[in-house]
Amino acid sequence: MKKPAQSRAVFLDRDGTIARYRVYCRSPQEFDLLPGAGTAIRSLNRAGFLVIVMTNQSAIGRGMMTRMTLEAIHQKMHRELAKFGARVDGVYFCPHHPDDGCVCRKPQIGMITQAAQEWNLSLKRSYAIGDRHLDVQPGQAAGAITILVRSGHPPEPANGVMPAHEADSLEQAAVWILSREPKLRHRAKAPVKKRRVKPQAKRRRAKSPAKRRRR
Ligand SMILES: [Mg+2]
Repeated sequence: MKKPAQSRAVFLDRDGTIARYRVYCRSPQEFDLLPGAGTAIRSLNRAGFLVIVMTNQSAIGRGMMTRMTLEAIHQKMHRELAKFGARVDGVYFCPHHPDDGCVCRKPQIGMITQAAQEWNLSLKRSYAIGDRHLDVQPGQAAGAITILVRSGHPPEPANGVMPAHEADSLEQAAVWILSREPKLRHRAKAPVKKRRVKPQAKRRRAKSPAKRRRR
């Protein structure tokens, strides 16, 4: 039997890549989308990539934030992105303290391998973007194409991490991705299709002339 085709994803770090960099973002009020992030994600959505967020949230393990608050922050992220017609398909987070020895905290590869299984992803045809080398490291280890963005954390030693590309912002990173993907590029630029009329609205419209005829 033929194997189902694997999907392609763009893995995104959250703080410093999609949202303004903070050491800890502990409330929805502290979450601010970076300029251009919404349109960048929309162009990746339209090109046919799954957009998957992967974020270390040790503030939970440190007792500084609850999972419920993290959920509220992510609800705000989804709402803010929706204003640009952009969508995040999946969110993976590591709630552990750095001393917990988990396999999911970046630079460990746990979140990316879990997502690859759950979404049937081709990792070597996927991209990973982050503002720190530790965000790029799991992507590199998994064989994805990596991009370091200079929109968040101050520069730090590379420690053997070699991103395939560096960009000033997520917006520029998305432009670079689409420049390498001529088959997908036209989809990203295609105009948004008109919204289909809801079946219920159609039915209502169909009914009224009939009513008039009966009178
Ligand atoms: Mg970051």
